Amino acid sequence: MPLDISLIRNRLDAASGVLAINSPNAVEDELVTKLLLEVAQPLEYKPYYWNLSKSLREVSLTRDKSGKITGIKKTPVPDYTTDNPVTGLFQFIRDCKDHALFLIANVQEFLPGGMQPNVFVLQDLIDLCREIKRSDKRIILLGDRLRLSHHFDGAIFEIDNPLPTEAERESNLEFRLADIKAQSKGKVKFNLSNQGRQNLIRAMGGITKEEADDLLLEAAITDKAITDGTGEFIKLRRSAKLRKRGVDILEPPPVKAVGLENLDRWLERKAKMFSPRAQEYGLDLPNGCLIVGPPGTGKTLTVKNMAATWEMPVFVMNIGRMMDRHVGGSEENMDRFLKEIESQTGILFIDELDKQFAAIAVNALGGDGGTSQRMFGTFLQWLNDKREKRIPIFVAATANRVDHLPSEFLRDGRWDAKFYVGLPRQKARAEILSVHLERRKIELSKDAIARIAVATDGFNGAELEQLVITCAEAAFIADRPGQVSLDELIEAAMVAPVQSRNPDEQEKLRQLEDWARQSAIPASLEADETIETAEYSSDRRARF
Ligand code: ADP
Repeated sequence: MPLDISLIRNRLDAASGVLAINSPNAVEDELVTKLLLEVAQPLEYKPYYWNLSKSLREVSLTRDKSGKITGIKKTPVPDYTTDNPVTGLFQFIRDCKDHALFLIANVQEFLPGGMQPNVFVLQDLIDLCREIKRSDKRIILLGDRLRLSHHFDGAIFEIDNPLPTEAERESNLEFRLADIKAQSKGKVKFNLSNQGRQNLIRAMGGITKEEADDLLLEAAITDKAITDGTGEFIKLRRSAKLRKRGVDILEPPPVKAVGLENLDRWLERKAKMFSPRAQEYGLDLPNGCLIVGPPGTGKTLTVKNMAATWEMPVFVMNIGRMMDRHVGGSEENMDRFLKEIESQTGILFIDELDKQFAAIAVNALGGDGGTSQRMFGTFLQWLNDKREKRIPIFVAATANRVDHLPSEFLRDGRWDAKFYVGLPRQKARAEILSVHLERRKIELSKDAIARIAVATDGFNGAELEQLVITCAEAAFIADRPGQVSLDELIEAAMVAPVQSRNPDEQEKLRQLEDWARQSAIPASLEADETIETAEYSSDRRARF
């Protein structure tokens, strides 16, 4: 949803002295231009702009001969000097006689939760909020990830300016392409297919409009062309920007997770539901799935494969990284992360959901003052809203155990489907061995691979891969790279550590299988079972 300008105007009219706009492009001219043009000008405010480096400036829009806006002019305020950058600014606002609008960027760094919190600034701003209400002046605070502390509850009205939606990105792209065409006077070649255009729109997700414009221009100048490859160029640059904001994009994995046919086919079908055509026919956007199973069975690999084949960015949720020692900081980080991703089409990957939210059960007893509980609450609420607001994010969560999972994650309807990935059976073990042998350039006959599969009962996928690596390394060191015999592999299998042979693990596995029998779809295709029967049978039980 774009920034609600009429809400801003109404609020300023209705004696809200101070508004705060939380916006990823808070310090970019684009937002200031919009506020000058659509708020200050029609309401006849004299606009001022302040930020830490530029101090206080009078601002106005600049236009070319045809009246088209070309930028913003910022001129220093005559005689404005102050010892303290912030309280000096607040005093200037108090003394100002104009019908003025002050756009103040990043002052939150001096407030609780900021980089240099200062109790005097806090109190001064609380007082100013009260005083300014009855005056002719108004303030708009601008900040990326601007979350004001509870001291301002009811005193400052907060508005979010989310990143552009897919539709907004599409119309902006058309506009920018036409602009580059006109400006470059034939020097930039255009060769963009429909698919290339779609890729470009996707590649521009997660960054601000101004960032996307800059990257498009950079691509046009560097390549002297806008082609189907431009999307890739933008994606690379975008990843660097997103990483800075704590959003990871996963790389496509070197191998495919094999032997998980049911899961694969289900995911393949769900991918199609993101297409505009499916949307045209009123089909629901996929919501997400939970993939449960013992460690090392290819759950993470499946999500990575899925991201690569769906051509979607993956946002990795890492609750540990969100934890912040400041009061309320962790909840804000969670909130910010979810806001950050929700204007995009992508996959939200929550690896080891059981471990990430394990603190909930422990901390319900008051361990961390309820922080984990509140983060969990925020996330659950977001999951509900996501469905209602039709946010095109597919949530892919994995878990090794279900007994540590809050029950809210297991209830019916939370996921489109819950899958169980068990230890690979003989046929699947042979397939897994094949892909990993092939990757290490080891050639063995089908029959030999089948015999290793028989000898590796109880191995998970990661252990099968490790077996191949151990033998491949030994062969390499013995100066015969890629030359591994059947006997070597069988011998190595006899001595390899196998997690599922540990009695504790066996008990966990048994419990997990009990749960899966009642509540999950098997990820692997059994001889007589197809995805249709698994998903639509009246008892959706896993069979082992
Ligand atoms: P999980 O998320 O289930 O704990 P991973 O997906 O991280 O396990 O698997 C670890 C590694 O083991 C993978 O990177 C892959 O090399 C190998 N592996 C596990 N299962 C499979 C599989 N079904 N097919 C191919 N490789 C597998």
